[in-house]
Amino acid sequence: MTLSILYRGVLSSCNYDCTYCPFAKRKDTRATMATDKQQVERFVAFIQQHQSVPHINGVEHFKIFFTPWGEGLIRKHYQQAMVELSNMPNVQKVAIQTNLSCTLTWLQKANKDKIALWATWHPGQVDRETFLNKCRQLDALGVMYSVGIVGFKETIEEIETMRTLLPKERYLWVNALKKQADYYNETERKRLIAVDPYVPYNMVYHESRGKACRTGHTVISVDGDGNIFRCHFIKEKLGNLYEDALDGILQPRTCTNDTCGCHIGYVHMNELNLYNVFKGRELERVEE
Ligand code: SF4
Ligand code: SF4
Repeated sequence: MTLSILYRGVLSSCNYDCTYCPFAKRKDTRATMATDKQQVERFVAFIQQHQSVPHINGVEHFKIFFTPWGEGLIRKHYQQAMVELSNMPNVQKVAIQTNLSCTLTWLQKANKDKIALWATWHPGQVDRETFLNKCRQLDALGVMYSVGIVGFKETIEEIETMRTLLPKERYLWVNALKKQADYYNETERKRLIAVDPYVPYNMVYHESRGKACRTGHTVISVDGDGNIFRCHFIKEKLGNLYEDALDGILQPRTCTNDTCGCHIGYVHMNELNLYNVFKGRELERVEE
C-alpha cells in the first residue's frame, strides 16, 4: 500500500504580496523558522528510518506532498527535504506547492523521476516571461511540474496567453473563484474550460458528507508535531505519526464535512474518479 502524506508545518510566511492572501509578505519569527526546520527534518528522518522496513502497518511506499501556508521553497530546509526524500527508495513521489520564485539549481541533486512541483503563477507578482523562464529551467532539468493560476475574471486573458506559451503537453490548471455564485458568465466559463478541461470540478463545492473519501485511509494530513488528521479540512486528530502505530488509524472512511472545494481534498473523493484522470500524479496536479 502507498500512503500519501500531506505535510503542513508551522511556516506561514511568503515573499509575495498577493492581495487576497493572509500570508502575503508575512514574516515568520526566527524562532518559528527554527521550529519549522527542526520539524521538517524530523519528518524526513521518520521517512528515512522506515525505508529499510518493508512494511510499516501495511505501508510500503510514501507519497509526500508539502502544502505550506506561504512559500516553503525559498527556505533551504524544504529544498533539502525534497532532495533527500526524492532519493529514498521507499518514497514514490515528493511534491510541493510553490510560487516558483526560488532558485532551481538545488534540483540537480534530486531524483527527477520522483520530484514534482505544483507551481502557481501569480501575474500581479512576477511577470510572465520571468515565470516562463523558470518553467524552461524545469524542462531543462527534467523536473515534472504543473502550472496553475487563480481564475480571477480580469486574469482570464493572461491565463489564455499563458496557455499558448507553455508546451501543449504541460497541464495548466485554473483555481476557480466560487464563493460568489455565478461569478463567471457563460462565456468566461467556456474560456476557462478551453484552457483547463477539469476546471468545472473546481468551480463547485462538492457535496461530500457521508461520501467515501480516501483520506484517513490511503491519504493523511500531518502537521509539524506529527499530529495526524485525515485531511487539511477536518480537524479531528486521528493520532500521531511519531507515537502511534498506523494500524488502528488507517481505515476507509466517509466525509463528515458538508462540502469539499479544494483540489487537494476532493481529488481523493472516490465518486469523482479523478485518480483516473491524474493517474498517480494527483498530488502535484499533473494531468496525464
Ligand atoms: S504566493 Fe501564495 S502564499 Fe504567497 S502571497 Fe501569493 S497566494 Fe499567498
Ligand atoms: S471530501 Fe474533502 S473534506 Fe471530506 S474527507 Fe475528503 S478531503 Fe476531507
